[in-house]
Amino acid sequence: MEKIIIVGAGPAGISAALYAARGNMDPLVVDNGIGALEKAEKIENYYGLECLLSGRELYERGLAQARRLGVRILNAQVLGIGGFDTFEVKTTKGSFEAESVILATGGKRSTPSIPGIRELEGRGVSYCAVCDAFFYRGKEVAVLGHSDFALHEAEELVNLASGVTIYTDGMEPEFSREHPIAVNTMKIQAIEGEGRVEGIRLQSDMMMQEEGQEQASFMPTDGVFVALGTAGSSEIARQMGAELTEKGHIKVDEKMESTIPGLFAAGDCTGGLLQVAKAVYEGCQAGISAIQYVRRRGKES
Ligand SMILES: Cc1cc2nc3c(=O)[nH]c(=O)nc-3n(C[C@H](O)[C@H](O)[C@H](O)COP(=O)(O)OP(=O)(O)OC[C@H]3O[C@@H](n4cnc5c(N)ncnc54)[C@H](O)[C@@H]3O)c2cc1C
Repeated sequence: MEKIIIVGAGPAGISAALYAARGNMDPLVVDNGIGALEKAEKIENYYGLECLLSGRELYERGLAQARRLGVRILNAQVLGIGGFDTFEVKTTKGSFEAESVILATGGKRSTPSIPGIRELEGRGVSYCAVCDAFFYRGKEVAVLGHSDFALHEAEELVNLASGVTIYTDGMEPEFSREHPIAVNTMKIQAIEGEGRVEGIRLQSDMMMQEEGQEQASFMPTDGVFVALGTAGSSEIARQMGAELTEKGHIKVDEKMESTIPGLFAAGDCTGGLLQVAKAVYEGCQAGISAIQYVRRRGKES
């Protein structure tokens, strides 16, 4: 079993990993490639930067620094975290058990701009299959997404719902394994319903649309689960039952511990100032707190 798993290798995740490694915890970092730093053309307001660095250069330096201290970095996507007493971190490259987890997955994902989705949030539009699947037992549901995260959410629903379809909204499916779940790749025009979700309107024939004869078909469904791209911090935390703030960030105390013992969070995923300096500080605190948590646990057992 791992002592500490860190999800994310941005400034927060790497900072946590450096402290955890120095604390002899041999941390495992799971990372899915560059995060917010990808868009940062030049960084000049972080301590010690004698010359301008691009966000990508900073990210790569962070990875190299962590590797130099012996930190193991697994290039994979975390799909969800479960478990009781210890944590089971489910990734695209298998599941790993850990005594403690630090979420450092960066900022919140933006809601897709599909008409109807915002208006019907909480009224049939959900962002968490584990949390809400029960309300859809015996009902028809849709999962919005095209990657392993969407597949993971769909698999949470199949045992309860009467039918599950993954809608990719025109994207090519990118599932890393075979599965029996129905997939619809058409573009979505809108999520529709009077007061709650009643169905998905598809742009059924792009050719006809180009010819000016737009046609749409309506797919009745009782619920739409949004699982676009990769699982973000709030999706993972929500699945686990950790409290979020009103703005949807992970709620943490001054030790960066969430409302679940042993689950810590750091960086953009906790909200507030979205800056490298703040992510590095929180990663440092989360790393130290996770070390203390693992040591305390060891003494108690
Ligand atoms: C355009 C732009 C310019 C900026 N300029 C500056 C600046 O000049 N100065 C400054 O201080 N800050 C700047 N920032 C902000 C800064 O980039 C962020 O505050 C900082 O990167 C946050 O660090 P983080 O570790 O919390 O998240 P991120 O850097 O976003 O890292 C998150 C990591 O989590 C990983 N991850 C996410 N989901 C999963 C998953 N499901 N499984 C596995 N891994 C996952 C990602 O792959 C990524 O590596 C800028 C941001 C932007 C967008």
